[in-house]
Amino acid sequence: MNASALPPPAEPDQGALRAAIVTTANALTHARLNHGAAGNVSARTATGMLITPSGLPAERMLGDDIAHVAANGTASGRLAPSSEWRFHADLYAHRPEAGAIIHTHAPFATALACQRIEIPPFHYMIARFGGTSVRCARYATFGTQALSDHIVAAIAGRSACLIANHGMLVFGPDLEHALAAAIEFESLCEQYWRTLQLGPPVCLSSDEMAEVIEKFRWYGRPQDSGD
Ligand code: 13P
Ligand code: ZN
Repeated sequence: MNASALPPPAEPDQGALRAAIVTTANALTHARLNHGAAGNVSARTATGMLITPSGLPAERMLGDDIAHVAANGTASGRLAPSSEWRFHADLYAHRPEAGAIIHTHAPFATALACQRIEIPPFHYMIARFGGTSVRCARYATFGTQALSDHIVAAIAGRSACLIANHGMLVFGPDLEHALAAAIEFESLCEQYWRTLQLGPPVCLSSDEMAEVIEKFRWYGRPQDSGD
């Protein structure tokens, strides 16, 4: 048989990745970053992504409930994919470094997002998310292409953004790192919220932030080579 006549190899079952997505969704609930069916989690695959189903609370989710969305937007699975599959798909297309994406309605991030605040460099850990601030994506109805476009713009050069009157989003190279980033980002939002209770913060300068951003390129790697 001619090799070119063979069908393309099917994507493997991805059972372990499906289970890891369910575990991550439950971890977000337990960390009080999400509740009920709010938020969604996805992971990149060879042919597109696996993503949590729409409207199902994490505690009722099974691996087989996780939907597959191909790179061309075609969904498969027994349940419909998250209503936010568009911004997950667009981020995988625009940001090759993203291996997993988490969207939450975490309380402190959402409080700031409802003020449509861009978080300034009030703390050096802002640099953890790639820049000197964390922007807030413009408002659009959930699940729309307009919302996806606003998120892709707001997160340019960063790995996190707020979403106006909605919540937040982070991505990482894999689910484990994305979960850690989501928890850190919500903690940073709480710190900013608390700081604001005392008045406007003293922010770091662009030179101070540039130094931190450079150090983060090496931070946490084996045999840290940063100064
Ligand atoms: P889904 O249940 O469709 O993922 O929607 C939750 C959500 O947070 C919408 O923005
Ligand atoms: Zn949402």
